[in-house]
Amino acid sequence: MRRIALLGSTGSIGTSTLNVLRRHPDRFRPVALVAGRNAALLADQVRDWQPAFAGLVHGDGSAGFPAGPEALIAAATRDDVDVVVNAVVGAAGLEATLTALRAGKRVALANKETLVTAGALVAEAARLGGGSLVPIDSEHSAVLQCLAGPAAKGTAPTRLILTASGGPFRTWSDRAIAEATVDQALNHPTWSMGAKITVDSATLANKALEVIEAHFLFDLGYDAIEVVVHPQSIVHAFVEFADGSVLAQAGFPTMEIPILYALTHPDRVPDAGATRFDPVAAGALTFEAVRHEAFPAFGLGVAAGRAGGTAPAVFNGANEVAVAAFLARRIPFGRIPVLIETALAAHSVVAADSLDVVRAADAEARRTAEEAI
Ligand code: MG
Repeated sequence: MRRIALLGSTGSIGTSTLNVLRRHPDRFRPVALVAGRNAALLADQVRDWQPAFAGLVHGDGSAGFPAGPEALIAAATRDDVDVVVNAVVGAAGLEATLTALRAGKRVALANKETLVTAGALVAEAARLGGGSLVPIDSEHSAVLQCLAGPAAKGTAPTRLILTASGGPFRTWSDRAIAEATVDQALNHPTWSMGAKITVDSATLANKALEVIEAHFLFDLGYDAIEVVVHPQSIVHAFVEFADGSVLAQAGFPTMEIPILYALTHPDRVPDAGATRFDPVAAGALTFEAVRHEAFPAFGLGVAAGRAGGTAPAVFNGANEVAVAAFLARRIPFGRIPVLIETALAAHSVVAADSLDVVRAADAEARRTAEEAI
C-alpha cells in the first residue's frame, strides 16, 4: 500500500489522480489532500476519501481546513506519506517538492515550475534526503519509460525529441495569434488541462518549460533536446540512442496513464480502466517544425534554459504574471512573449544556488512584468 499526499487535489491533474486511485484501492491510499482555492470540491473529496489531513492554500480557515501555503509542506512531510503528488500550479509548488525530497519521499511531479526555477536545488535536496523525483508530464513520462525498459539497458540516450501539439494557433498567421482571445486560447485541440497550462500550450511557453525540465530530469545538454510539433498528440516523446535506434512512447492523450506510471515506476501495474489505444482511430500521425517567429515564447524559454542560473526562474515568473494578465483580459495574447522578453532583458543572471536567490529572481521578474503591464 502506497500512501499518497496529493497537492493540488482539485485541479485537472489532482482530479485525474483521484480517478486513478479510485481504480486501485488495494495499492494506494490518499492520506493528505491539499487544494488551492476550491473549498467546496475539497470538502467533497474529504467526504469521499476520509484523508488524515486536508488543507487549503488560499483559504482563511473559514472553510474548516488548515489554510495557507504551510498546508503544502505539512502534507508533503508527513510520516505516513510515501509518495507526494505535486500538482500545484506555478512556482508555489517549489518548496513542497524540496521539503518532500529532503524528507526522503518519492515526488511524482506535475508542477513543472519546480524544476524550471530550481533544478539544481531539487537535485541537491534529493541527494541529501534520499528522495526521488518521477515526472508525471506525458512527454517526460514517455522518455522515462523508454529509458526504463530493457531496450535501453546499458546505454545513455543521445537525443530526446519532445512532441508539442502546437496548440490552437498552430496554423494561424502571426497577426491573428497576436490578437487571439481568451476563449480561443483555452480551446486546446487535443489535451484537456487547467487554464494556465492551456495558455502556455498556446504560446508554446509550456514546451520551453518542458525542455528545461528534461535537461534537469535526464541530465542532457540543450543541444540534445529537440521539439517537434505533432498535432495529434499520440507520440509523447522519442528517445534516440548511440546506435541510431529510436524508441517512442505513444497513446491517446490522457494524463491517467503517466500518473499511474509515476506512482508505480519502475514497475507497471495492470489498469483495466485505462484508455486503450487504437491506431486506426488515431489515423495519420504528422510532424512539423516549430514556427519560431509565430511562437517567440518558446525560443525565449529555451534560451533562458541555456543561460542557466536564475534565467529560467525569470522566464517562468514573467510568464506566470503575463498569463494571469491575459486571462484577466488586461493584455492581448501577443503581449505575453513581449513581457517575458522585457523581464529577461532587465535581469542580471546569477547562480541559482539557494531558495532565496530563486525567490528574489522570481519576485523581480513578476515586478518587471507587472510594471510593464
Ligand atoms: Mg506536457
